[in-house]
Amino acid sequence: MPEDLLGIPFPAAAHDHGRCVDEALRRARAAFERKGLKFTPLREQILREIAASHSAVGAYEVRDRLLAKGGRRLSPISVYRAIDALLYVGAISRFKSRNAYFARHNEEGASSRVVLACQECGRVAEIDGARVFRAIQRAATQEAFVPADAVIEVSGLCVNCAKRRQSGRASRSFRGEGG
Ligand SMILES: [Zn+2]
Ligand SMILES: [Zn+2]
Repeated sequence: MPEDLLGIPFPAAAHDHGRCVDEALRRARAAFERKGLKFTPLREQILREIAASHSAVGAYEVRDRLLAKGGRRLSPISVYRAIDALLYVGAISRFKSRNAYFARHNEEGASSRVVLACQECGRVAEIDGARVFRAIQRAATQEAFVPADAVIEVSGLCVNCAKRRQSGRASRSFRGEGG
């Protein structure tokens, strides 16, 4: 397995997610401070909603959830502005093909990331894609093409769902229901 696939942040299904949220908030606060920007209550609320799971959520869903919790009705533009600020400091990432956002639960660092999305549980994670992007750059250069933006989003099965599938298959075959 390539080394950049190690330590993929797909935590076990039963983990203390409160800690993930706390960490995401702590990192966001520090990132806003570094950029000399304010981590406003709205930005924090929106980050909390996005970080509430390891899945990606759309802007309108975030807005509806906040409203359902008794918050004021936010205009889409104010939600998008807060999301833009969160993207800018690197607190969240965009899941382009689904027009959704997810919190960065792993350390920031690499700028060229590959998004991994589980088709079964909907969790999304990122890995360092430096080598993939270098390969694209090289291939494009050979064709005298200058790439401006590349998005790599891979769908598949996360480690938890793959394990669950495997054990499901194993127990079926023990009962003689085939492999
Ligand atoms: Zn978590
Ligand atoms: Zn999964």
